[in-house]
Amino acid sequence: MSEHLSRRAILALGAVAAGELLLSERGFASEPRRRVVVWSEGTAPKNVYPHDIRGAVADGLKPLAGWEIVTATLSDPDQGVSEESLNKTDVLIWWGHQRHGEVKDENVARIVRRVKEEGLGFIALHSAHWSKALKKLLGTNCGWKGGYVEDGSGLEIVIKDKQHPIARGLSDFTLPHTERYTEPFECPEPDSLVLDGIYSRKDGSKEESRQGLTWKVGKGKVFYFQPGHETYPHFFDENVRKVLRNAVVWAAPTK
Ligand code: ZN
Repeated sequence: MSEHLSRRAILALGAVAAGELLLSERGFASEPRRRVVVWSEGTAPKNVYPHDIRGAVADGLKPLAGWEIVTATLSDPDQGVSEESLNKTDVLIWWGHQRHGEVKDENVARIVRRVKEEGLGFIALHSAHWSKALKKLLGTNCGWKGGYVEDGSGLEIVIKDKQHPIARGLSDFTLPHTERYTEPFECPEPDSLVLDGIYSRKDGSKEESRQGLTWKVGKGKVFYFQPGHETYPHFFDENVRKVLRNAVVWAAPTK
């Protein structure tokens, strides 16, 4: 092909390519790459989550420009939250269920210190309401006192705080089946109830339950998102993925 192009045309093409390279380098220089770590304990059923919860959540974050997306788990060195890793991380997403007790207190303390003192964003998903880190950060028991029923109820997610950055571009949406966590949720009063929820129980009755709440904890931002039981493919849902992308951008510390 090149033999049909004049020398001048080839030089011009080269200049365009070089210009693009310079532009992209400038782009990176002015906007440092950010880093999100997606952590899950590795207990989700393989037929729903072949790469565990962290794999599905990380895939959903891929459209985020300028973000490095990393996964971590309990069996990694320092249980996936080493000092070195946390120090270069802007946002930590956490999903745990059966193995909360195995997370070492020293690792929890490192997360909590990074959130409170240095503004690490922390996003707890579903059964991570019982995670040691969320309990420490919020200073409450973080149980759902009304109980837990895995009956495949429908769930309508209602955007309550439409101006909140986590709600950007979203309308009310439905998850066809979910596990019900019943109020009251033992947490401090949230700064914002971004997402409310209405369950449609199997007997046709309705139940309200909060789905997306935010708090400021020290210098850090914390978001709890209630959907995400491991037998339902919630983290492949495009609306859920948009919630999480928005939440990551919102939770990142201001640099
Ligand atoms: Zn669950």
